[in-house]
Amino acid sequence: MTVQIQDSQIEAIVQQVLAQVNGRPGEMPRSAHYRGVFATPDEAVKAAYAAQACFRRVSLTQRKAIIQAMRETAIENAQMLAQTAVTETGMGRVSDKVLKNLLVAEKTPGVEILPNDAYVGDDGLTLEECAPFGVILAITPVTNPTATVINNAISMVAAGNAVVFAPHPASQKASLTTMDLLNEAIESVGGPRNLLTAAQEATIEVAQELMHHPLIPLICTTGGPGVVDAALSCGKRAIGAAAGNPPALVDDTADPEKAARDIILGHSFDNNMPCTSEKEVVVTAGIADALMAGFRKAGNAYVLDRSLLPRLEEVVLNEKHSGPNRKYIGQNACVILAELGIQADEEMRTIIVEVDKDHPFVRHELMMPVLGVVRVRDFEEGINVAVEVEAGLRHSAVIHSSNIYHMSEYGRAINTTIFVKNAPSYAGLGFGGEGHTSFTIAGRTGEGMTTARTFTRIRRCALVGAFSAV
Ligand code: NAD
Repeated sequence: MTVQIQDSQIEAIVQQVLAQVNGRPGEMPRSAHYRGVFATPDEAVKAAYAAQACFRRVSLTQRKAIIQAMRETAIENAQMLAQTAVTETGMGRVSDKVLKNLLVAEKTPGVEILPNDAYVGDDGLTLEECAPFGVILAITPVTNPTATVINNAISMVAAGNAVVFAPHPASQKASLTTMDLLNEAIESVGGPRNLLTAAQEATIEVAQELMHHPLIPLICTTGGPGVVDAALSCGKRAIGAAAGNPPALVDDTADPEKAARDIILGHSFDNNMPCTSEKEVVVTAGIADALMAGFRKAGNAYVLDRSLLPRLEEVVLNEKHSGPNRKYIGQNACVILAELGIQADEEMRTIIVEVDKDHPFVRHELMMPVLGVVRVRDFEEGINVAVEVEAGLRHSAVIHSSNIYHMSEYGRAINTTIFVKNAPSYAGLGFGGEGHTSFTIAGRTGEGMTTARTFTRIRRCALVGAFSAV
């Protein structure tokens, strides 16, 4: 006798098996054992507190060795961690996530960025040095679940702290795998156990319990506006790295083909999930046609006919058109195009369409490879529109121009934490641009690109009388 099994039954069995192997979002995979994971939030904090007490006695030379070991393990595992994140979340591009992991492993500053000031004179010697906070709570996003953990861990440990992580429930496995490897690296060079910890469960309730734990003096949040509001209202010092909606302004003096190529690269990096990625384009009338031709010529962007705009809106926006359809966040452009009956391969990086300045593609952070382009009369109108759509988030902005006065006028007007000229937005993260990197860009609370320095208290130590300067 032949038994007929429906597709839906097969799917149900697969989901059942996957749930047994992987657990549901926010639930620990049953087979997993990660270093630094504890049954309750309280235990995770207390273990980190004890580890930090040992870490206080570790020399700076040894702290540098610990940071070096963390970098090496992150580099060795960059590919595996990228794959784990994409498999677990179903979002982003593995090859781009590898680049992000390598970037934070190599360019997150370590102990060397901590300043020490000394004042010497007739009255003795006064030192100002960077002291740790103790145990920091780091709340991390689903969009960069491994790179943020590497970046935060290096910055916070370099500053002498222990860290309790609260990862996003939908990327718990990727984040805890990263934490586990970093803990192994720390221990391998004689660092304390449990310098990085987390609770077994990853939920918003756990994150909130951790925020209010008395042994946590500092909260660092990387995510949307809700989590930053929650951290800022819990009566402690909080560093808030929040959402952005970065506009790329292209003026008549730009090189249109280079601008088109750079915008595609920055906007489509990891399928538009980085908070810094170009989320919309504002282009002056004199160069708009050439820029659109540049997008077509680039070969890896699909310039959509406006007649298909209603169908695209139906697919990628939620019902009220007040934000993205979560199903398509971080998906490849070809997946979205397939919904429109258009065939493309994975080399197709993005979908570009002309819209007006109030369109949801312009006003909302979509975090998917769909890019709205707004035509404006002139540069002055371009600045006004870009400032309006950035909406005071003060996150990131880009300009393509060869007029240096335009660059500085726009930079002053938009006043974002990251401002990139004539390059993909990721140059502002130190990728193809100078300077260190950070994946926690605290525009909301003003610390900017966070580093070890951000996670320290300044401590003064004055010695009077018993010191001779000559
Ligand atoms: P999200 O806000 O949904 O979640 C971020 C983290 O906060 C998760 O760990 C989540 O569990 C937790 N969380 C959410 N609401 C909470 C609450 N009320 N109380 C306690 N914890 C809470 O964001 P996401 O989808 O994971 O990440 C994407 C967002 O993060 C985008 O808006 C993006 O722009 C932003 N982001 C900003 C930066 C930056 O450096 N400024 C970097 C990466 C991502």
